[in-house]
Amino acid sequence: MASSMTDQYLANNKQYAGGQAMHKPSYPGKQRIQPAKRVAVVACMDARLDVEDLLGLQTGDAHIIRNAGGVVSDDAIRCLIISHHLLDTNEVILIHHTRCGMLAFTDDLLKAGLEGDAAAEKLLGQATGRAFASCKKCAATPAQFHAFRGPIEPLDAPRDTKNMERLAWDVRRGMSAVLNHPWLPTSGPDAITVRGFIYDVDTGKLEEVSYPGPMGSIG
Ligand SMILES: [Zn+2]
Repeated sequence: MASSMTDQYLANNKQYAGGQAMHKPSYPGKQRIQPAKRVAVVACMDARLDVEDLLGLQTGDAHIIRNAGGVVSDDAIRCLIISHHLLDTNEVILIHHTRCGMLAFTDDLLKAGLEGDAAAEKLLGQATGRAFASCKKCAATPAQFHAFRGPIEPLDAPRDTKNMERLAWDVRRGMSAVLNHPWLPTSGPDAITVRGFIYDVDTGKLEEVSYPGPMGSIG
C-alpha cells in the first residue's frame, strides 16, 4: 500500500505513546465540511481512548464514529456511507482496545439481566462491581449489544493471548463488514481502504490486526 494517512497516524501514535502531545487543542479557524485528511475512524467509547490524541488527529482531519466496542454496527455503516459518498473520506481506521468491557459479557447475559433473571443479575453485579439493577422488562430494541465473541472474562482484565485473539476477531469482523458492504466500494477509482487496530490502554500503542484471518469460534 502506498503511504497513507493511516501510516502517518501510526507514526504519530508512536510519538504519543512516548509521551508527546500530537493533537493541537486550539481552535484552527474556519474549515471545510469535508474531513481534510479524508479519514474516518470507528473506535470504542471507552473513556481511556482519546482518539484525537492517540492518532495525532487535528480538528477537521477526520470523522470519528464511536460506540461501545468500536463495533461496525448498522449505525456505524450508515455513518461510513455518508462519510464516504457525501463527504469524500476514503480511508477507514477501526480501533478496538485492550481491557474492553465488551469482553466481559454476552448479549444473552445482559438481556437476561435486564429482563429480571436473578442469576444473570448476580453475574453482572460480580463482573462489574456495581449492583446490577434489573428493569424486569423485555424490549425489542436494541436487537443486539454486539458483545465480543468468545468466553467472557472479568471486567478490565489485562491483555493475554486469548483476549487479544477475541479482540482481533472482532476487528476482522468489522473490516469484513465494511469491505463487503455493497455501498462501500473497495475497488475502482472511488475505492476506500480499511485497516484495523488494537489500542493497548496500558502502553498507549496501536497494534495492527492482520486481515484476512479468523473471525471467531464458538468452541
Ligand atoms: Zn471498549
